[in-house]
Amino acid sequence: MIMNKKNHFTPSNRELANNLLQKHDSIIQDLLKAMPNHFYNEAVDSYIWIGNKNSFSKNDPVDFTFSYCIHGSEIAGLPLAIRCLENLKKNTPSLSLRFLLGNRNAVIENKRFIEVDLNRCFLKTAHHLSEEKRAQDIENILTNSKIIFDLHQTTTKSISPFLLIKNISYNFQYLNHFKWTEIPVIVYKDGVKFSQDGDSLSSFAHEKRIPFMTLELSEQGIQDDLIDRAFESIEFFLKNALNLKSGEKVSKENIQNRIFYQENIIIQKLNPTHQLVPGISNMQLIEVNSPLHILNNQTELATVSGLALFPKYGKMQEHSSELIRLVTPLNFNQLQL
Ligand SMILES: [Zn+2]
Repeated sequence: MIMNKKNHFTPSNRELANNLLQKHDSIIQDLLKAMPNHFYNEAVDSYIWIGNKNSFSKNDPVDFTFSYCIHGSEIAGLPLAIRCLENLKKNTPSLSLRFLLGNRNAVIENKRFIEVDLNRCFLKTAHHLSEEKRAQDIENILTNSKIIFDLHQTTTKSISPFLLIKNISYNFQYLNHFKWTEIPVIVYKDGVKFSQDGDSLSSFAHEKRIPFMTLELSEQGIQDDLIDRAFESIEFFLKNALNLKSGEKVSKENIQNRIFYQENIIIQKLNPTHQLVPGISNMQLIEVNSPLHILNNQTELATVSGLALFPKYGKMQEHSSELIRLVTPLNFNQLQL
């Protein structure tokens, strides 16, 4: 089922999102009927699946949280959650797993958000808009998470899926059990705010010292092969996460097989007409001195070679304070293992 890329925001896309949502909800309802000791918080769309832990109570820490559709138009998390939930009908790992559907209203509308970008609403003190309130609800339930795995999709084409993690040792312990070794890993600095536009779920996790990983799976839409790949990685992780002990040493052999990048340059948007040259994809190599952005009708060149990260066009360009980031290879000894 490959989506027609021209049809991203058409009613058929909306229909697909709503069909997947219905299937997702009905599997949770089935599981709840079969296992009434599970927890479902309808207001926050949080379902906690409990393995063989008979003594689990509502406020106990949850071993693994899978969050998806924090951006409503990034619906690949639904078929992935459905696969995980279907699999749980057959298997019973001794774990507690939370499935958190980030922004249901935005999924229904097939939009990134309803009032304001949910992933820029965390760690706020005032909560007026719907997404600000939702961020607060999500914070309240995620405080007792042991690990959070957050699925996203990009707004423009991606040459390859990629992971985002903060440069903190407990995140590398987590990464060590994520068996998708050839996927590029973008490491961002500890202590640096991810976006000037507001705080993301990752900032919240970081503040609570919760291991956190973001998978940017693909451009928005459904790509079955990538969903399979993500599912296998989660499966492997869940089987092996039981061995994940705090203070566990990261195997350097495992980590050395991976490719790490760091953010090198962020091009801030300096005025409303400041824009990128057209057609840049995520993870595309931008050579030094090649055309990158247009400021006051003047084409500006890249000052370093690097891979493109989050190029912003159209509405994204309009609403963001930045245009693009460039990432460059990160030396292995810069990792906080
Ligand atoms: Zn997203």
